[in-house]
Amino acid sequence: MLNAQTTQQVHRRHHVKKDGRDLFLYSHAPHTLAPTNDLDPVAKPEPHMRWHALRREWVAYATNRQNRTYKPPPEYCPLCPVKPGAYPGEIPFETFDVAVFENRFPSFHLDAATAPALPIETKPGVGRCEVVIYSPDHVGSLATIAQDRRELLIHAWADRLTDLLGRPEIDFVLPFENRGEAVGATLHHPHGQIYALGFRPPIIETQAASFRDDPVLDRLRDQIGDRYDIVTGSTMAAFVPPFARFPFEIWVSPFAHHAGPWSLSSAEVSDLAAVLGEVVATYDALFDQPMPYFMHLMAAPKGEEETFQFHFQFLPLQRSADKLKYLAAMEQGTGVFLADVAPEEMVDRLRDARPNR
Ligand SMILES: [Zn+2]
Repeated sequence: MLNAQTTQQVHRRHHVKKDGRDLFLYSHAPHTLAPTNDLDPVAKPEPHMRWHALRREWVAYATNRQNRTYKPPPEYCPLCPVKPGAYPGEIPFETFDVAVFENRFPSFHLDAATAPALPIETKPGVGRCEVVIYSPDHVGSLATIAQDRRELLIHAWADRLTDLLGRPEIDFVLPFENRGEAVGATLHHPHGQIYALGFRPPIIETQAASFRDDPVLDRLRDQIGDRYDIVTGSTMAAFVPPFARFPFEIWVSPFAHHAGPWSLSSAEVSDLAAVLGEVVATYDALFDQPMPYFMHLMAAPKGEEETFQFHFQFLPLQRSADKLKYLAAMEQGTGVFLADVAPEEMVDRLRDARPNR
């Protein structure tokens, strides 16, 4: 039933939460447990956007997010499974494998209908925000969850991308992960998010335009071969881009053309799952601590499927064991990144750190 190929069957259960939000449970065996304690409804969100005339981009406002859950103690984690009679949570079942639900405090909403009347251009924040839970276990990461759970996660991403991009209001969908307090993660349970937007952000339009001109990632592979690889799989590689902006930046790119994970073969799903695990294991071994990073799953915006090359970008913030990279005046003001480790040195150090080489 899901588009990407798999050797094991993937089941999706759709459950409507007490407040009407969608919850999807992905598993290899059918999920048939009875629901337990769900969360109570909160006020309906009314996100809106304002046009930034100088940067020519939208700024999103969602004031309801000020009240969202912030670093709760583990026993009140809203992403953990909920035993019968226990404190309610987002996934009201005793257990699950991979779960995706609509964010309770979204920055965008498909029903957003109003925006304040101001002297500047405004519009409703139409879109959708979802949360992706990698595991029922409170502690873990892409490196520590099992291979078949990472494969399920890839199927979940593919399924959500296909569904969201199929909606007329949506132009672009970004699955991502903010990992660690250093990048602003407020919940520790292993999870990522998905933002579906009704417009195309400038950085994404620039990427799409680059791919329309040239198959940039194929060209790069022709230029550098495996010289910058951290992991070379049979169908894809993880490598440091030779123009890395962030310390120890890694991209994961399939050798064959894919606009998104929805068209991957079962061999590619398996390879991608293994490579993602290796990348995060290598990061965590580098400074012997969990590496804080931003991870982006870059899939084609609507209509760009012919040319856009699906890939992942990992953007870490730790530049040494005790120093964080800050986006300072030059980066913030001009977009010009100042790096103090050469990509070639990043490659050597990451290869040395890789646990399973
Ligand atoms: Zn938890």
